[in-house]
Amino acid sequence: MINLQTGQCGICVHFGERHQERSELQHIRSTSRASELYTDECGHPMLAQVRLRVTPISGCDAFQAAKRTAEDLVQPEAPH
Ligand code: SF4
Repeated sequence: MINLQTGQCGICVHFGERHQERSELQHIRSTSRASELYTDECGHPMLAQVRLRVTPISGCDAFQAAKRTAEDLVQPEAPH
């Protein structure tokens, strides 16, 4: 397991963006720790078409911090 730092893919909102409900992703985000063997797709709009796969310790200048807990990931209801 690796401790993740700000700027690394594992705690970026775009890491696995299309399936954020996965327990592996939620665990990585809540603990800021990940297996060095885990990879996932980057969902950044500039990279999604090429389906770039990255490791939790990869990174780029488009890093955007993800919310850290499952409760944070629940989207608020849209106003009626
Ligand atoms: S490659 Fe950049 S945008 Fe994609 S998950 Fe990693 S830090 Fe985020």
